[in-house]
Amino acid sequence: MQPFEYTSPTSTSEVIQLLGAGETRALAGGTDLLTLMKSEVVTPQQLVNLKHTDLPRGITLDGDTLTIGALTSLSEIESSALAQGHAPALVEAIAVAATPQLRNMATLGGNLLQRPRCWYFRSPAFHCWLKGGSECQARDGENQHHAIFDRSPCVAVHPSDPATALVALDAEVVLRGADGERSVPIAEFFALPTDERRTENILSDDELITAVRVPPQMDMRGTYLKAMDRKVWAFALVSVAVTLRLDNGRIADARVVLGGVAPVPWRSAAAEQVLVGQQPDAALFDRAAQAALADAQPLKLNGYKVPLAQALIRQALAALSN
Ligand SMILES: Cc1cc2nc3c(=O)[nH]c(=O)nc-3n(C[C@H](O)[C@H](O)[C@H](O)COP(=O)(O)OP(=O)(O)OC[C@H]3O[C@@H](n4cnc5c(N)ncnc54)[C@H](O)[C@@H]3O)c2cc1C
Ligand code: SF4
Repeated sequence: MQPFEYTSPTSTSEVIQLLGAGETRALAGGTDLLTLMKSEVVTPQQLVNLKHTDLPRGITLDGDTLTIGALTSLSEIESSALAQGHAPALVEAIAVAATPQLRNMATLGGNLLQRPRCWYFRSPAFHCWLKGGSECQARDGENQHHAIFDRSPCVAVHPSDPATALVALDAEVVLRGADGERSVPIAEFFALPTDERRTENILSDDELITAVRVPPQMDMRGTYLKAMDRKVWAFALVSVAVTLRLDNGRIADARVVLGGVAPVPWRSAAAEQVLVGQQPDAALFDRAAQAALADAQPLKLNGYKVPLAQALIRQALAALSN
């Protein structure tokens, strides 16, 4: 690991000032950042500890809007009665993320900003496109865990389980920078990497996530299902978050979001269009699953993700329609 300076300020404005000076990274639980620093994929000159600042930590319900502070640990969310009542899909997603020990350390802000698990990205031996290089080694390489929706020069998948659930919950992310605070729908916060911005989100270098807000769900039911190659300590091969509202036996509202299939959580408008206005049954769920994957373009080694994602969508829809 390269040497770095360590600062532990008490205010977020101080953090924002330090981030603005460049070559500086914010440190929350450290479970992703420190790993990247050890392999010298990330080499900041300065680390700024967030944990002694006034950055919000904890969960509150204001009216029917759930607000989760960026410093809240995943285990605090998992055991929160407010989160369980208001956002069960998020709690289900967190319960299958990483391990209990990691969930104690990991914060929600850090979880949303963790970098891809692509082995070429994580290895100091490759200077891949996402790290500023000219080539994506995964495209013709070991791509069994990579994207099946190919819309960016990078085909890594977003690693966060909570992110997928929060898109299905229509959450918004609250950001604070030198120019003040702004709120962004989480579906816009995550954005496919481009030549100009080689990251998976629109956060500026001198901005912090301060909180995530989950709006009222208005009788929406929700669930999160995750396929893994072992039962714990594994990232999603594919996951699905579905929220659904039934009215008089018909589907009045639906959100279908896939994880593990693209560099960002992947909402399927096509599947939602198939579902809305219809009576739930197995044939409808099958049509929605087909529609969700109709545009998939698997790479050489990850074609298995298409039927896996379809099966998870059918399973989630059936569970929510009972
Ligand atoms: C073995 C292993 C298995 C895992 N399995 C899963 C899994 O199945 N599902 C899953 O979702 N995750 C998984 N993870 C990832 C884990 O959940 C993340 O490492 C963790 O959530 C990151 O949170 P942190 O607080 O430790 O972030 P840090 O490592 O401290 O920070 C991560 C990034 O976010 C930035 N940052 C942190 N907080 C803020 C903020 N408030 N504002 C601006 N920038 C900020 C940091 O600068 C850094 O760039 C796994 C991790 C490991 C090591
Ligand atoms: S998939 Fe993305 S992170 Fe992986 S090698 Fe290609 S550009 Fe790099």
